[in-house]
Amino acid sequence: MSTFQAPKGTYDLIPPRSAAFLAVREGLSAPLRRAGYGYIETPGFESVELFARGVGESTDIVTKEMYTLTTKGGDELALRPEGTASVLRAALEANLHKGGNLPVKLWYSGSYYRYERQQKGRYRHFSQVGAEAIGSEDPALDAELIILAADAYRALGLRDFRLLLNSLGDRACRPGYRATLQEFLRGLDLDEDTRARVEINPLRVLDDKRESVRRQLTGAPLMRDHLCAECAAYHRRVRSLLDAAGVVYEDDPRLVRGLDYYTRTTFEFVHDGLGSQSAIGGGGRYDGLSEMLGGPALPSVGWALGVDRTVLALEAEGVGTEVPDGTGVFAVPVGEEAREVLFGVVTALRREGVAADLAYGGKGLKNAMKSANRSGARYALILGERDLADGVAQLKDLGTGEQTPVPLDGAVTEVRAKLG
Ligand code: AMP
Repeated sequence: MSTFQAPKGTYDLIPPRSAAFLAVREGLSAPLRRAGYGYIETPGFESVELFARGVGESTDIVTKEMYTLTTKGGDELALRPEGTASVLRAALEANLHKGGNLPVKLWYSGSYYRYERQQKGRYRHFSQVGAEAIGSEDPALDAELIILAADAYRALGLRDFRLLLNSLGDRACRPGYRATLQEFLRGLDLDEDTRARVEINPLRVLDDKRESVRRQLTGAPLMRDHLCAECAAYHRRVRSLLDAAGVVYEDDPRLVRGLDYYTRTTFEFVHDGLGSQSAIGGGGRYDGLSEMLGGPALPSVGWALGVDRTVLALEAEGVGTEVPDGTGVFAVPVGEEAREVLFGVVTALRREGVAADLAYGGKGLKNAMKSANRSGARYALILGERDLADGVAQLKDLGTGEQTPVPLDGAVTEVRAKLG
């Protein structure tokens, strides 16, 4: 019988590399927790209708990439392909917006599912850390979120990333621009699918990566030249706040992103060491989404950062991440009685907050020392028969090889002090 493999487009996080994922999740969310964002967790699946309305009927995500299922009870559900629609649904359902305390600031972290063609950096199951600031129209919030993301990447040690910035206008100025763009696009030589897209979602055509299309797009009308006075002023405010914070950005008037709900500010972080799947995070303002979901007007802004691609980007730059809770001390018993005594010491160490491990499985001294070295621990705590009789254990610095006896009954205090 053959063994099982992870489903196509997915992969397992396995030690030691999995530690980098934990560190990245922690690193991407730490700045949010310091900025007043509260943690939210929503189900891994939602009604199909939520995403159809929230993400957009004409988007690739909804038309091609959703994992949908019909339950035995007849409900149409989808594994969540993104986080914003769910978070807004949950906030509305819990009436968070009615507390008189806007914006509602939330952050989340979890798994997302899209039926995509697999390649490096593009998976069918991936992980995001996200943030949403719901219910206020303030350029300082757009700037806050962008700064928090840029600072999070920097704090993790990432350097070769760029921030692309655009404004998509609002319901006052976008319809006029959309019509102008459509007129331009209808005059081009495009295939049938793309012509259909021109009618349903013309902005998306600007994002076409094919050379044959790109060539024809030179001279296409751009949203930035059609912004109304309010949108233009709003965008200037966001930019000046980013400037003041020292966050560097590039204007990308073609940045449209793959979800329909965006208005005004849109942005994407790209990394130059990742090849074609270069977006490590992105987001923007979505002032109309709440109403699209049947809620009140709640202008909001948010982002989602890709954990998988951030790990790949760190690897591409050769940046290591700090291993959380790496083993501090590894206990090496020789003989049955020592095993029992050291089991007690390890338990006590853990209760005192020291990361400790033990050689299991009746290993001899040589193999147990190998395990100690592999564990990455700073110290080995060795207990032989003679030591046991003397009431001491040998504390060995695995970096320098230096070994000193410590009294067994004071071993916990001694090790804790040494590890600081
Ligand atoms: P999006 O909502 O599509 O803008 O996604 C936000 C971020 O999630 C992207 O910038 C990527 O870093 C990450 N991401 C999106 N789709 C995938 C995928 N299929 N595989 C891996 N990461 C993804």
